[in-house]
Amino acid sequence: MKGHQPIENLIYELSRLPGIGRKSAQRLTYYLLDQDLEDVESLAKALVRAKRDTKKCSVCSNYSDQDPCEICASPRRDRNILCVVEHPKDVVTMEKTGKFHGLYHVLHGVIAPQRGVGPMELTIPELLNRLGENDIDEVILATNPTRDGQTTALYLATLIQPMGIKCSRISHGIPVGGDMEYYDTLTVGTALENRVEMK
Ligand SMILES: [Zn+2]
Repeated sequence: MKGHQPIENLIYELSRLPGIGRKSAQRLTYYLLDQDLEDVESLAKALVRAKRDTKKCSVCSNYSDQDPCEICASPRRDRNILCVVEHPKDVVTMEKTGKFHGLYHVLHGVIAPQRGVGPMELTIPELLNRLGENDIDEVILATNPTRDGQTTALYLATLIQPMGIKCSRISHGIPVGGDMEYYDTLTVGTALENRVEMK
């Protein structure tokens, strides 16, 4: 195990974060060492607090500090339309467009056989239960237009359409291989409005 020394240990822990290589981890570590103890303590507290006080909503699996989450609990949302997304951050992207007023379902990933991720590793069983128990007219499959995102959308459509529920796909304006996170709200909003029914 690396990192018996405090500095090496922090560099190692930071380098495990996505998108942070060893060089960035080193830069961040020395940046933190230059700060006041108070500031570093408040960062450490924020990390622990966010993790400890955040739960998965028992309805949609989005992260929230309350259960059910604010969106699921809101009387102003349209309960007949459901938008299925890969990650909690995609809910934020969708909400920013201001164009979607239904409910969400967060998969927490996509089907990726090459990485050993099957439907049971995602919240697909919960989604199917939800569709069976509620009066839902349309499911928007808003997984990213990557190969795995596309496969997941098709897989879900084959399960959902026989339940008599319309399935649609957003893709317009977001190039193949793209990640919703990197597109502006106008592009995502347009993709949502121009969604295409899957046949
Ligand atoms: Zn929820």
